[in-house]
Amino acid sequence: MKLLTLLAGSAAAIALCLPLATTASASSAKPVIGFSIDDLRVERWARDRDYFTAAAKELGADVIVTSADANEQKQVNQVENMISQKVDAVVIVPMNSKVFAEVIDEAHKAGVKVLSYDRLILNADEDAYISFDNERVGTMEAEAVFKAKPEGNYYLLGGSPTDNNAKLLRQGQMKVIQAAVDSGKIKIVGSQWVPEWSPTTAMSIMENALTAANNKIDAVVASNDGTAGGAIQALAAQNLAGKVPISGQDADLAAVKRVIAGTQTVTVYKPLKLIASEAAKLTVQLIKGEKPAYNAELDNGAKKIPSLLLTPIALTKDNIDTVIKDGFYTKDQVEGK
Ligand code: BGC
Repeated sequence: MKLLTLLAGSAAAIALCLPLATTASASSAKPVIGFSIDDLRVERWARDRDYFTAAAKELGADVIVTSADANEQKQVNQVENMISQKVDAVVIVPMNSKVFAEVIDEAHKAGVKVLSYDRLILNADEDAYISFDNERVGTMEAEAVFKAKPEGNYYLLGGSPTDNNAKLLRQGQMKVIQAAVDSGKIKIVGSQWVPEWSPTTAMSIMENALTAANNKIDAVVASNDGTAGGAIQALAAQNLAGKVPISGQDADLAAVKRVIAGTQTVTVYKPLKLIASEAAKLTVQLIKGEKPAYNAELDNGAKKIPSLLLTPIALTKDNIDTVIKDGFYTKDQVEGK
């Protein structure tokens, strides 16, 4: 708004108006939201982007989207850039949960609201957090694997070490298996975090784990579908796909197909349209100084962050058609036509 007003009436305004109109215009009548995504190359985030942008538009807001391609410094620069473009709010899916404290202070000094999206930003002063209940997601992952294999050698494939969700998921997973670990029914034969949630890294971790254990791995608790996909490739190479229960989350299309084929035990479905539209609503409310409806508070190390946690849904072979009923995929997509 300030920039536009300054330029209004000048010849420069005519030349600059177009790009400016789509990049920034801090005003609560037509707010501009910056959506900073860790990595748009990962299937789910492109859907988050599309749903969020559509929902924000319905609420009269424009959205600028950036992807940091899993580069934390690039993401910090992108957010700084949004602040200097005078957006009204930034919504951040952080690659690294621990690097945003300063930039959030800068945002606040510039009157810009900050929402932590899906992943909690740690040790910082963000205004709010929205996510699915990640501990619950972890519980659902482990529950399905535990039901299929209540004893034996378990491998724990964690998420990215820079993502706070990875820890919450693990907490939820351990709640399910800890007693069996303590009683000796379950033996954890290995456990590793997968940097950047990379499926190819997950595959080589699983290959090495299988070699080290002489293929004696009975179950794998994997934290998302991408890494599960990598691990399942390693299992398949040893003729173990479908024999070793394994979890995931996101209802990625490939994972839905694997659940149907029986090579993946469970995927936890998180309706992305819901989180994206709730996030758009919440952001606009923050911008307008209204009070959003929260249902939780999460301690991020610096303070308790008002949070909205949504409920995930575990999908196994029995209820996998939920993704079609819910409009997440068409029948043709699921059947591969
Ligand atoms: C998200 C998952 C996603 C993973 C990798 C996590 O923080 O909650 O849905 O699969 O990041 O992008």
